[in-house]
Amino acid sequence: MDTQKVIEEVLKVSFATKALEFGADIMDRIPGLFTKFFPGRKAIVFADKITWKVAGERAFYELAKAGVPATTFIITDDRFHPDWKYVEMIDKVIEQENGILIAVGSGVINDLAKFGAFRHNDQYICVPTVASVDGYTSATAAINDERGAKVSFKCKSPSIIVADSKVLASAPWFLSAAGYGDLASKVTSGAEWMIADLFGTEPIHPAAWSLTQDHLREMLSDPDGVRNGNPETIEALFLGLALAGIGIEVSGGDTRCVSCAEHLYNHYMDMTHHTNNGRPVSHGFQVAIGELTLCAFFDALLEMDLTKIDVDKCVEAWPSLEEEQDRATKIFADFPVPTLGYEEITKKWQPKEEVRVQLEKVKACWPEFREKLRAQVIPFKEMQDLFRRAGAPTTPEEIGLTNADIRKMTDFVQLMRWRINVLDLAKRACFYDELMDKVFGKGGVWEVK
Ligand SMILES: [Zn+2]
Repeated sequence: MDTQKVIEEVLKVSFATKALEFGADIMDRIPGLFTKFFPGRKAIVFADKITWKVAGERAFYELAKAGVPATTFIITDDRFHPDWKYVEMIDKVIEQENGILIAVGSGVINDLAKFGAFRHNDQYICVPTVASVDGYTSATAAINDERGAKVSFKCKSPSIIVADSKVLASAPWFLSAAGYGDLASKVTSGAEWMIADLFGTEPIHPAAWSLTQDHLREMLSDPDGVRNGNPETIEALFLGLALAGIGIEVSGGDTRCVSCAEHLYNHYMDMTHHTNNGRPVSHGFQVAIGELTLCAFFDALLEMDLTKIDVDKCVEAWPSLEEEQDRATKIFADFPVPTLGYEEITKKWQPKEEVRVQLEKVKACWPEFREKLRAQVIPFKEMQDLFRRAGAPTTPEEIGLTNADIRKMTDFVQLMRWRINVLDLAKRACFYDELMDKVFGKGGVWEVK
C-alpha cells in the first residue's frame, strides 16, 4: 500500500481534512503546518502528563525552535474523563490566548480539543499518540455534559493530522491491539452493508466504501507487527482508523461504513457498564469479540443454500409490527434503556410485501452474492488467529464474558439499532434459530455448555 497515494485520494474527497501527515520522526513538520494554516496565531499544545512526555514536549520544542508563539495546557490528573470541568478550562485557555489547540494524545484529549475548537468556531491540529480507536477523525466528540451524562456532540473533524509512526508505535501494545480490533470490524460491517444494499434499505456509498474497504485487508495483514510495535504496521493501522472517520464524513455523517452488528455488542456492554475484574474493557477489545461473533455467523451463513428459501412460508411467518414491538419490549424489560428495542424495531420493521421482495432478491442472486460475501469476510478461525497474534482478545472469557452472555446479547443486538444486519436476514429468511444453533449449539465455536 502506498500511504502517500491513499492520502492524496483522501484529500480529494474530504472537505474537513486539509493535511494528513504520516511518517517516522515528523514532529518537526508541526511548525510549518501551523504557520501555513494559522498564520499569526498562537499554538496551545494540549496534552496530559503522559502524552506531554511522549510527544507534547517535542511539539512544543519544535514550535519554539521555529519561532512560533506557543503555550501549553497540560492535564495533570492521573486519570481523567472528558468531563465538563475540562471543557471549561479549555474554553478559558483558548479565549485567553486566542490560540489554536494542538491536541497531543489519545481519544479523550482529542475529543476535548475537537469540542473546544468547535465551540470557538475554530480548527485544531491532532497529533495522535495511540492507534487505539477510529474516533480521531470523526465529526463527533464524546463529552460528559454538565450533568455528567455522556453525550456525543456534533463537532468538526480535525483539519490537520500529524501521525508520527514512531510516536504511535511507542504506545503499549494492547492499545494498538484494541485499534486492530476496531479496524477489523470493517470486515463484517462491510458484508452487512452489502446485505442492506441488496435489501435496498441502505445503498452502498461508493466513496465511503472505497475509503473504508479498499486497503482494509492490507492494513490487517501484519498482526505480529501490531503486537511488536512495528512503526510501519502501526502507521497503516492508524491510517485505516483515520479513513474510517473520513468515510463517515464523505457519507454525510452516516456511520454505516464503519460499524454494524459487531459494534452493538460493544454498545450493549457500554450501556450495562460491563467490566472485567472490576476494570472497564476497551472499546476495541469489546468490538473484537463482537467481530469474532459476526465472523462465526458469516461462516454459518456461507454454508447455507438460500436458493432453497421458501419465500411464501417466510412471508407468511413474518410478524406484524405490534408482535415485533411486543417481542422487543419483553427482551429489553430489564435493560438500562428498556424502550430501545421497541424504538429501533419500529424504525426497522418492514411490511410483508417489502420482505417478500427482499427474500426473492436474495434467493435469486444467492450463488453470486454468497461468493461476494465470501470474498468480503474472514473466516472465524482466521480472524481469531489474527487477533491472537495482534494481542486482541480471542474468546469472550478474555474480556470477562461467557459464551452464554454473547448468546444472550445477540437477541438484543438484532433489535437495538434500525440498521439492517445479518441477523435481520436470518429473521426474514426464517433461519435465526438455526444460525444461533450453529454458533452457540453443540460443536459451535461459541458453544454454550
Ligand atoms: Zn469502533
